[in-house]
Amino acid sequence: MKLEEGVPLARLTTLGTGGPARYFARPDSLGDLERALRFARERDLPVAVVGLGSNVLAADEGVDALVLKLGGELAAVELRGELLVAGGGATNAVCLHRARSAGLGGFEFASAIPGTIGGGVRMNAGAYGGDWSGIVERALVATADGVGWLAREELRLSYRSSAIGAGQVVARAEHRLRRKPVEEIKATIAALQAQRKGAQPTNKRTFGSVFKNPEHELGAGRMLEACGLKGYRIGGAQISPKHANFIENAGGARSADAVALMVEARRRAREQFGVELEHEVHLLGRLELTE
Ligand SMILES: Cc1cc2nc3c(=O)[nH]c(=O)nc-3n(C[C@H](O)[C@H](O)[C@H](O)COP(=O)(O)OP(=O)(O)OC[C@H]3O[C@@H](n4cnc5c(N)ncnc54)[C@H](O)[C@@H]3O)c2cc1C
Repeated sequence: MKLEEGVPLARLTTLGTGGPARYFARPDSLGDLERALRFARERDLPVAVVGLGSNVLAADEGVDALVLKLGGELAAVELRGELLVAGGGATNAVCLHRARSAGLGGFEFASAIPGTIGGGVRMNAGAYGGDWSGIVERALVATADGVGWLAREELRLSYRSSAIGAGQVVARAEHRLRRKPVEEIKATIAALQAQRKGAQPTNKRTFGSVFKNPEHELGAGRMLEACGLKGYRIGGAQISPKHANFIENAGGARSADAVALMVEARRRAREQFGVELEHEVHLLGRLELTE
């Protein structure tokens, strides 16, 4: 396994921002992954995994960590009857394609979520009434101490949250799907994707929802829209004119620009609605939302 130094995270995130990772590796097998985790522990280095980098914001100065991107057998997809067994680095798109071709339903909710299985479990990603908690049976989790299976209950999946913490890597996960006519699956996917295209920026570089929806009659998007933030720009980043809970790279954005927008958005939501918005996007490196 090649260990690289100074790999720009801007290449590994959908927003296209972020400085260099101190170390970067692409483990292809469980053995590689365990070696990488031990390498980091011996040097007291934090470990960060990126899937498609579709919900991370990495510091412009870089990240003093070992950053991993899973490949090879850790990104493989296999069907065992109605069980979809996928590596943590397998993309949702490939899993969905395999499930659809085999006439297995249940994964359609992920058709509009650009990400990997590991990111899906970690975030309990979801859309249109479905999320990982509804399909995942168990996940194989690696740490510097070894690997072990965590059952669904142990994963403690709730709204955009799970028990998977720093230094824990989802190497594989098993998902329970169910037989469904292929045409029905295709129709659901088409409907969800059309709905998505109408409501959110789909042809821009973003990192998905910036904030979790608060306990309020308004979701984060509507709340920020009411604060007059649609189209608001700082540096190269702007609040999407289409959906206010998205930040777009409008050209030459830095993570610091996105953070500045998030700080301003939180300030306005607090002042106008008395709501403390909690960010959904994961921050890598030294990034703080301080005013
Ligand atoms: C256009 C767009 C639309 C989106 N729509 C949705 C949506 O509808 N619903 C939704 O929930 N999200 C949405 N997102 C956000 C994002 O796609 C999801 O959170 C996705 O699950 C992230 O997966 P990822 O593999 O890219 O993870 P990353 O963004 O790379 O990482 C996210 C977090 O998961 C961790 N992680 C990644 N892989 C692993 C692993 N193997 N083991 C342990 N930890 C890991 C990372 O360290 C990080 O903390 C959207 C994003 C975009 C850009």
